[in-house]
Amino acid sequence: MQDAVVVGSGPNGLAAAVTLAQAGAHVTVLEANDTIGGGARTLDLGLAPGVVHDVCSAVHAMAWASPFFRAFDLAAHGVELITPEVSYAQPLDGRSPAVAYRSLERTVAELGADGPAWRSLVGAASRRWEAVAAVGLGDKRSLPPGLGSPGALVAAARFGLGVLEQGTRVWDRRWRTPDAAALLTGVAAHAITPLPSLAGAGTALLLASLAHAGAGWSIPRGGSQAITDALVRDLLAHGGEVVTGVRVRGRADLPAARAYLFDTAPRTLLDVVGPSLPVGVRRALAGFRYGNGAAKVDFVLSGPVPWADPDGVGAVARAGTLHVGGTREQMAHAEAQVAAGRHAERPMTLVSDPSVADPGRVVGGLRPLWTYAHVPAGSDVDVTEAVTAQLERFAPGFRDVVVASRCVPAARMGRHNQNYVGGDIAAGAVTMWQMIARPTARANPYAAGGGVYLCSQSTPPGPGVHGMSGYHAARRALRDVFGVRVPAL
Ligand SMILES: Cc1cc2nc3c(=O)[nH]c(=O)nc-3n(C[C@H](O)[C@H](O)[C@H](O)COP(=O)(O)OP(=O)(O)OC[C@H]3O[C@@H](n4cnc5c(N)ncnc54)[C@H](O)[C@@H]3O)c2cc1C
Repeated sequence: MQDAVVVGSGPNGLAAAVTLAQAGAHVTVLEANDTIGGGARTLDLGLAPGVVHDVCSAVHAMAWASPFFRAFDLAAHGVELITPEVSYAQPLDGRSPAVAYRSLERTVAELGADGPAWRSLVGAASRRWEAVAAVGLGDKRSLPPGLGSPGALVAAARFGLGVLEQGTRVWDRRWRTPDAAALLTGVAAHAITPLPSLAGAGTALLLASLAHAGAGWSIPRGGSQAITDALVRDLLAHGGEVVTGVRVRGRADLPAARAYLFDTAPRTLLDVVGPSLPVGVRRALAGFRYGNGAAKVDFVLSGPVPWADPDGVGAVARAGTLHVGGTREQMAHAEAQVAAGRHAERPMTLVSDPSVADPGRVVGGLRPLWTYAHVPAGSDVDVTEAVTAQLERFAPGFRDVVVASRCVPAARMGRHNQNYVGGDIAAGAVTMWQMIARPTARANPYAAGGGVYLCSQSTPPGPGVHGMSGYHAARRALRDVFGVRVPAL
């Protein structure tokens, strides 16, 4: 009998496997796809020779800030996180873009009248990013070690007040210009929720504060696969193994083991082991709410995106990430349409040109462009034209540099990762309740009973490449099943 089987090789599955293996357990990871990494994979999509694309995650703030990855030490495992000078930018119609630099001071200076308000909200959180990360990436059940000082507790309290302000109808009271409001809303939109919302504001303040700290909104050299490969190397070094091409559909697909950790959607856990789970757990898994979706469009370009540059500074062209959705009101309108089950005529679109930070991604003069747009759950619409129109809006002539493209509509997301139910890339609606009760409000949201654990982003702390869901679940499995205690991170 094995010690532990992990179903799924996403960042949380691998973080769980590494945590278990480092504690001495023999671990096998079973992955449905032929490639390892789930939402952290970089693949040749066959669009242009040698040009590789991040099929899911591309930009990583949590990969350096997460307590799991800080302890793991990505740099020591050969991962180079490149920090773009411009963390993210918000192009605006007929005016200068709003820009979040890695430098807080420069951001504050360029935001003009709203600079001081940005400093007191985002800057304050950024100076205390360890406390903010401890709150944002904790298990929502215990006091994380990162909150062990009065200063950190004050920072956490201020963070909470900021979430209350930016997550409710008073969200405009701080801002005097449209720029800073739009800049923060572009980050809130990562949550794919109606705006304002508490979950959106929590997402915004966490990610915006990390943009001015540490490695910022970093881009791994070579693509997100570098993170996956580092985790796999460590797992193998600790005697673990990864078996690809194995889709676990039922109990019979699972080798005998003392513990099972599912890096899957709650729905899959229910399908595979449902009948053996306690009734309360079954009910919670069945009642879990999935969110709206994303449709991915990967482009190959013959040159840089020809971003309009109204102020001649070129900051947008140097941004690692762009939130293409216009003003706060325009983004809130687009997200409201998606929440109502409709396609926005100008959908919220996220864009990253990784070669801005990593010129090695340009092959033979061709570069990948990573984009996705928010759409209603289950949408089968090809959004290539809608995304192209959004890019043309702020980068006239964009069409002329497009060499090839591929869209994966939300309804097809599940084909390359069955966790993304209906194209929900967060594997669960991002609401304040579901950030805590993910997938249940119980004291241990990871344990399903009988040595079975859920360790995916459908558990706290939720979406993103941080490995913390995997770590939190593995820590509990080690304690409960193996009697091994590992320190809280
Ligand atoms: C388009 C897109 C863009 C994103 N951008 C970012 C970003 O820039 N930064 C960021 O931090 N996050 C981003 N994310 C989110 C990030 O990718 C996820 O939060 C993260 O990958 C979740 O990790 P996970 O381990 O929980 O699950 P996943 O990464 O989804 O991995 C789950 C794995 O389990 C496997 N699996 C599922 N069911 C079974 C089964 N029955 N049998 C065997 N294997 C199974 C899947 O094939 C998959 O490999 C993005 C996601 C998408 C889709």
